[in-house]
Amino acid sequence: MTTEVVLTGTGVPHPRPGRAGAGTLVRCGGVALQFDAGRATVLRLMEAGTAPHALSALFVTHVHSDHVVDLADVAMTRWIQQQLVATGPLVVVAPEGGAARFVERMLDPYDEDLALRVAHVGAEPIRVDLRPFAVPATPEVVWTSDDGTVRVLAVAVHHEPVPDAVAYRVETPEGVVVVSGDTRVCQEVEDLSAGADLLVHEACRATALAPLIAGTTFETIFSYHADTVALGAMAERAAVPHVLLTHLIPPPDRPEDADAFAQDLRDGGYAGRITVGEDLVTVVLDRS
Ligand SMILES: [Zn+2]
Ligand SMILES: [Zn+2]
Repeated sequence: MTTEVVLTGTGVPHPRPGRAGAGTLVRCGGVALQFDAGRATVLRLMEAGTAPHALSALFVTHVHSDHVVDLADVAMTRWIQQQLVATGPLVVVAPEGGAARFVERMLDPYDEDLALRVAHVGAEPIRVDLRPFAVPATPEVVWTSDDGTVRVLAVAVHHEPVPDAVAYRVETPEGVVVVSGDTRVCQEVEDLSAGADLLVHEACRATALAPLIAGTTFETIFSYHADTVALGAMAERAAVPHVLLTHLIPPPDRPEDADAFAQDLRDGGYAGRITVGEDLVTVVLDRS
């Protein structure tokens, strides 16, 4: 058995062809865990070979729309698929606060449609199994598979002024992967990455683009994302063997744009393997 990590979206709010919104899928045997559900996640999940009804759980990192805009689609598509495969309501693990409140309300705008479908085909009403957790300052387990072989930990990160943003660490028998969510480069993710095989981290070329964006809105936006040079230094300190970059700011359109992200990490001192993410890029973890 192996553990697979698939990027279901490498994009950001500014749209780009070929880049869906934020999302990472981790598969291990019969366990399929989705982290965030940005724009077009359902489509990317199908392309990755994991339908919404096959997800064991979906984890939210924070309430920003580029991470949750397709969450209702995942839940409703799973519910419709129950006509074919009865796998039960979508389990959503989310930090208490804005993210959990969003999940509680996300189906409200669809109530007319959902009621019509229930009346038409006699289906059970849709239900989402929301499992909110208090954001921990140090890593805590927030989900464990039924057989106990896979577990997920969460820890608070630094995406201020956004409160209640978290990173996740997935531990399987074949390896460990950390998913940063949106954050500045921070000690919490460095600590969470101890012993990990793969770090999936958001990436923003803040140092390189500083002169270009000085005095613009982008200076503010870049300030709560992970500068790629600082990320390289952090990944080296954490001794993570492989960094998979996603949530790419600015979205690289040409190969040389992507290479520049990797070079930033090298400039920060990182000597390990770097993959600049594309949608559906897959990394296999196998310690055997
Ligand atoms: Zn984001
Ligand atoms: Zn964000």
